Amino acid sequence: LLARGRPVIGEDEECLGAVINLADITAMKVLDQLKSEFVAKVSHELRSPLSTIHEQLALVLSDVVEEFSERDQHLLSRAKEKTRGLISVIGDLLDLSRIESGVVAQEPEPVRIDDLLKNIVEFLSARADAKEQTLTSEFPEYPLPCITADPIALESIFGNLIANAINYTQNGGKIHVKADLAEASLADMSATDQRVRVQVADNGFGIDPKHQEKIFERFFRVKNEKTRYITGTGLGLPIVKGLVDSLGGVISLESEPGKGTTFTVILPAGASKK
Ligand code: ADP
Repeated sequence: LLARGRPVIGEDEECLGAVINLADITAMKVLDQLKSEFVAKVSHELRSPLSTIHEQLALVLSDVVEEFSERDQHLLSRAKEKTRGLISVIGDLLDLSRIESGVVAQEPEPVRIDDLLKNIVEFLSARADAKEQTLTSEFPEYPLPCITADPIALESIFGNLIANAINYTQNGGKIHVKADLAEASLADMSATDQRVRVQVADNGFGIDPKHQEKIFERFFRVKNEKTRYITGTGLGLPIVKGLVDSLGGVISLESEPGKGTTFTVILPAGASKK
């Protein structure tokens, strides 16, 4: 059941009552579920033949390169690259449909978020170095509570956000990753329902306000002069949002074109699959 409500305001700004609208969305949910299952099945069926094609193209190109003309080599390399792109889209679609249908098998365990973030930053620092960017991280002096969640889900969330920050920031730019306790939790450090806040900030391209609400939709990618040569599937942020939701957290962003973007994720320390 989906409930929507709004107050009814009189001529003198007084509240006269409320209109509450209840809609039975069972059919919509069933359709959504069927759509997710269909996408998961098609993706699954396509993934393995595509992987075979990719492996075989790689093999052909590595073994007998001298037998091909330069033109043929170029065409084969392009076919290999395109196949790799398709495999990545299909992998993302499969992940997304699993997350959306709630069948993703999460195995929660207590995770030290500072260690996890340090590892991701270290792993991605080569990519930032290649663009002469500074990738830094900052953690509080007080101990952060462990987050009870599947480490793979957390790696996917923050790996995607940091990789995006690197991708959508110009050469020489700055990316800063910061973790602390969300404000309400800071006020009472002994509370049992603490929430951890992680921010990924960059001084990159930024996102136009008119695109900001679409950014978590599947396949949405901003198309402009700066982004046109950056490859991607437009599925990273929907995956991130799906995972954050599944952990009972919230994600938000602040961004200004030409100035940069900050993504903020707040997760309950006791997060686990809802
Ligand atoms: P992808 O990166 O594969 O295109 P995402 O879903 O991760 O897909 O991101 C969607 C779009 O959001 C990107 O194509 C890009 O236009 C924009 N975007 C994401 N992160 C940032 C960022 N840190 N700065 C500027 N734009 C961003």
